[in-house]
Amino acid sequence: MSEIYHDHDADLSVLDDLTVALIGYGNQGRSQALNLRDSGVNVIIGNIRDHAAALAKEDGFPVSNIAEACDEADVVMLLIPDEVMPEVFKTHVAPNLVPGNLIVFASGYNIAFNLITPPSYIDVALVAPRMIGVGVRDSFVAGGGFPSFVGIHQDATGNAKALMLGIAKGIGSTRAGCIEMSMHDEASLDLFTEQAFGPAFGRVLMTAIELLIEAGYPPEAVLLELYLSGEFAYSFEKMREVGMMKQMDFHSRTSQYGTVTRGARFMALGEPIRQKMSEVLEEIRSGSFADEWSNQQPTATALFDKIREVRDQMPMAKWDERARTAFKIGNAGYPSPPRKSQRPNPKRPSQLGPRQWHSTRFPTG
Ligand code: NDP
Repeated sequence: MSEIYHDHDADLSVLDDLTVALIGYGNQGRSQALNLRDSGVNVIIGNIRDHAAALAKEDGFPVSNIAEACDEADVVMLLIPDEVMPEVFKTHVAPNLVPGNLIVFASGYNIAFNLITPPSYIDVALVAPRMIGVGVRDSFVAGGGFPSFVGIHQDATGNAKALMLGIAKGIGSTRAGCIEMSMHDEASLDLFTEQAFGPAFGRVLMTAIELLIEAGYPPEAVLLELYLSGEFAYSFEKMREVGMMKQMDFHSRTSQYGTVTRGARFMALGEPIRQKMSEVLEEIRSGSFADEWSNQQPTATALFDKIREVRDQMPMAKWDERARTAFKIGNAGYPSPPRKSQRPNPKRPSQLGPRQWHSTRFPTG
């Protein structure tokens, strides 16, 4: 049984008299910095000099370059994208670490797959929120919390766990609870959700959308029925609150009867899905996904431009925009900021059907 920590297990005063440098002021960086400061922690920001650094200054934080911030700090929290972290760590962070410092990762990725090897004389911890950046701040401000995966990778001082729990409490995570695990387990679970559960779920959703639209139902109605109304998200929320089985009581008896009897017909799909998921899990655990992604870095920007270009051409993008505009959901109807890929491009593919999208080739390893 894994250890789970709550507020009463953590002591913020271990951070008294320490300087905590947050490297990166993006999704997680800004929210965690604001939460830590509100918890009374002395926070400084290290960032490359651009708009994120300007925002940190506007928010009232002392801002310096990454090397200077690491030099000044006792605790360094790495909150920049995982794929740029190894280079930033080697060039700007590692040379400025001294014995007794603690570095904190919000994802186990780089340690798990040996892309960063910290010096043996420092403490290394994981505090990985199970929450997007904006939620980290919103839930803290609302007085709530969000869970995290936490762990100690290296304990040079003997004090690493107390400091890790202090950080977890300062960002508001021990309010909800923090479960202990290794960097490798955290990274593997995270990647599995992104690479197996998410795509499998997405395929089921897209199959239902395509089938219903081909059967003649209006796209707006189909999307509303399947997810845009918010009913599905609400059911998920109830699943979280009362449990997956008990939430069935919130649905009509017709719904429950149909779900149980017809649900049996889909049982056979479990095995092929499981097989695909196992393959993906093995690639993650063996490190072969991480190797592949590292090798893709030189062409990653071009790859993402291509992904966005194709994505924006899918009929689904138009159905979705039309339905969200009609029902005034989210930011529908407001222009999106221009991107490189939106400039006229004579090579742009003509509109793709959903089936063509699925066969569009991106590197798959
Ligand atoms: P972001 O993409 O939001 O990070 C942006 C920050 O990184 C900005 O300050 C940016 O500077 C800086 N940055 C970007 N590229 C470089 C570079 N080459 N050199 C130096 N600084 C750079 O990251 P996230 O907050 O999304 O992720 C941070 C960590 O948190 C990751 O380890 C991630 O796995 C983890 N995490 C993220 C979650 C999320 O929901 N996003 C959830 C849980 C964990 P500028 O903008 O000024 O260029």
